[in-house]
Amino acid sequence: MAGPNTPVMQQHAAAKRVQPDAIVFFRLGDFYEMFGDDAVVCSRALDLTLTSRNKGKPDEVPMAGVPHHAAHQYIARLLALGHKVAICEQMADPSKVKGIVPREVVRVITPGLVTDREQLDARSNNWLAALECSGERVGIALFDLSTGELAVAEVEDLAALLAELGRAGPREVLVGAADAGLAESASAALRQTLPVASVQSDPPLDDASVDLGVFAPDARSLGPLALAAAARALRFARACTPGKELPLRRVARWDPQAHLVIDAVAQRHLELTESASGLRQATLLGVIDVTESAAGARLLRRRLLAPLVDVGRIRRRHDQVELFVVHPRLRADVRAALSDVTDLERIVSRASLGEANPRELGSLRDGLAAAARVFSVLGSVEDRESRETLGLVGPRDLCSDLAAELMRALVERPPAQAKEGAIFADAYDAELDELDALQKTGAERMAELETQLRDSTGINTLKLRFTRVFGWYIEVTRSQAGKTPTNWRRKQTVRSGERYTTPELDDLADKITNAEERYRERELDLLRELVRAVAQAGNRISELSGRLARWDVASAMAEVAHRYDYSRPVVDDSDRLELGESRHPVVERLAAKGRFVPNDVQLALDAERLWLITGPNMAGKSTLLRQTALCVILAQLGGFVPAASARIGVVDRVLSRVGASDDVARGESTFMVEMRETAEILRRATRRSLLILDEIGRGTSTYDGLAIAWAVAEHIDEAVQCRALFATHYHELTELGNGSEHVANHCVSAREVGQDVVFLHRLVPGAASRSYGIAVARLAGLPEAVLARAKAILVGLEGSGGSVVHKPRRADAQLGLFERPEPEDPGAREVLDTLRALDVDRMTPLEALGLLSRLKNRLT
Ligand code: ADP
Repeated sequence: MAGPNTPVMQQHAAAKRVQPDAIVFFRLGDFYEMFGDDAVVCSRALDLTLTSRNKGKPDEVPMAGVPHHAAHQYIARLLALGHKVAICEQMADPSKVKGIVPREVVRVITPGLVTDREQLDARSNNWLAALECSGERVGIALFDLSTGELAVAEVEDLAALLAELGRAGPREVLVGAADAGLAESASAALRQTLPVASVQSDPPLDDASVDLGVFAPDARSLGPLALAAAARALRFARACTPGKELPLRRVARWDPQAHLVIDAVAQRHLELTESASGLRQATLLGVIDVTESAAGARLLRRRLLAPLVDVGRIRRRHDQVELFVVHPRLRADVRAALSDVTDLERIVSRASLGEANPRELGSLRDGLAAAARVFSVLGSVEDRESRETLGLVGPRDLCSDLAAELMRALVERPPAQAKEGAIFADAYDAELDELDALQKTGAERMAELETQLRDSTGINTLKLRFTRVFGWYIEVTRSQAGKTPTNWRRKQTVRSGERYTTPELDDLADKITNAEERYRERELDLLRELVRAVAQAGNRISELSGRLARWDVASAMAEVAHRYDYSRPVVDDSDRLELGESRHPVVERLAAKGRFVPNDVQLALDAERLWLITGPNMAGKSTLLRQTALCVILAQLGGFVPAASARIGVVDRVLSRVGASDDVARGESTFMVEMRETAEILRRATRRSLLILDEIGRGTSTYDGLAIAWAVAEHIDEAVQCRALFATHYHELTELGNGSEHVANHCVSAREVGQDVVFLHRLVPGAASRSYGIAVARLAGLPEAVLARAKAILVGLEGSGGSVVHKPRRADAQLGLFERPEPEDPGAREVLDTLRALDVDRMTPLEALGLLSRLKNRLT
């Protein structure tokens, strides 16, 4: 490709030099065009037609384009693929400049720096994570450009880093270190581990970029790595928003120690924010998020992934929830007012970046009015204690000055774009009103002039018209052209007739155009001023938004407690975990009304601290394990719990290993994954942790599996000594419960009725008497012949006696069932293998259908 030799292509080359790793969206009139490699990439990724510019000339270059008004959709798709996009705009009105329009990159959009509403999820933060690595230690900064929040922390090691990133779920990660090589290798490693499309290494910092100014006054307490990480995040964000003021509201020092650690595995297994099925209603967040505002929803999500460990703070949150529970009227009124609170934080951030449009300002005005209503509703709370609980004492700032200004300034429903209609209300600005009047009288005078010309010439078809290119003119049909006065100047001849102008028309036309232009300019000036005023109130609005979000969360937790009958947990520093009649918050919602069977759990470090739970498949073991962990998480995030009573000695970590098969898809054997997770759990658990282990050892042969499960349970009992629930189908393990004072056997009961099994889902002390495997197999629809054969084998196996470990059960029985000649066809063998490995109990009907179709494909 020859070098760019037209001025436009030179501009493009300059933009590309500044942003070499971004796709440059180059504004040409009503389009954004991409050139060269960018065009090729975009044509593939966005399914655009690839054309070329300067076709047939030596500097021919590939080109692809999108209309500017549809650009955000295309940008969103590129970001999802991990690209960056640099927007290169025309910096002047093309009609007003002689020669080439100046163009500059005004914004680089990366996945972590999105501010466009349509590309953001209103209910979660959009974090950019910047890391500063030094040996094992890592400084983390999380910056959300769309809300102006910045949180910084330092962690000890990789595992802690992954836990923190797991909570945040950043869209983009910058990995840096004093040594560029270290940054490079660390980012390569993280790219493998993190489910983030964009993980990149970031060049080392120089001293100048660590600007302490923004962190004052407690910057020094942050620690050098945290500080460097923050500097890195801000350096990156600044480079992507040239010439703009970064919205930076709250710099929060994040203390990982102050929060319950929910490791990534537990987060997934407990289906806190995402479910295996992909259904939102099947997650804890889906059940408890009844917040009314976007900021409230974001706060709840953050709290859910980072519950507290400080008893005092947890109780203060419970106090608020309780207040809203016992005052249903107050709760309803507050929630009604909150539902009109718009996304103040995000609008203000866009104002800081100069991106806020008139419609958003209108939405800010309405949101501030709703905020005032929230305060006035809460104003009905009179006793001092309740007011303190709600945080109503002390100064309040409703930003009423700004609210009033917006109220005065804007029309009822301002348009999204400046050119789409009036933005400002009458009587807001004298100059604007005057220009508006001029435009209007201009139009009237034009109409008058038309009548006057018709009368004076007697040409009754005469018209005054306007086109963009020719401006105003008099149009006369060809047949009447003879009647025109001689002093009219002919402008143009068209098929339909002749076009003229007169000095009087020119004069009036100038006045109108002038008034229009000056109106637009004045409007834009006023808009800029208003946006600036909003940006200046940024910290105040953000503060206000934070208070509203906290009330939103508290009243939402109260609403959930009321709707679903949750109760206030007692959280203390004890080492107990006592749940009376607890339920699984999600399963109980999906179950038929009244069908969920509540259960009790009672653990204490000096008494029974490890419960071994046995019972047939489908009895409810996993559900019990998960609900216990979920109750702890709910309690510590400040919510009420789905139980009749709860006493929870604060837990520092929830660690879980709940049988999952989805890791198989990532190409590792289930057993390997399971053992790695188990190893991790045993390494991390402290005496304050809660361990949830489900079906350890399942992924291997019976002997190995049992041996490992046994050893793990013993290790927890003797070495870790924390509260734990351990579900297993290895019946033999229950012997452990008979040997240790801290281990107790419980089973989820089922009853055999004739040949069938009925699940009671009720947890009772003692070990399950039988495995019911065959009854469950019947329930699943295994043919009678197979069931009969299985029974015979079982009787044989049980009859063979021997010591516990020598009593093979499951795997060997399976071998017996499948002792048949193997098919020759590898496809058929594969299908058989898949079927054998299948755990039907754990499949949803949808998954089963999907599998069936995949199997069929493999055979045909
Ligand atoms: P297991 O782990 O013992 O195989 P699960 O915990 O997966 O069993 O439970 C199987 C199904 O039984 C769940 O999907 C749920 O629908 C139902 N279930 C579990 N516990 C209860 C309960 N306490 N009350 C009512 N239904 C339950």
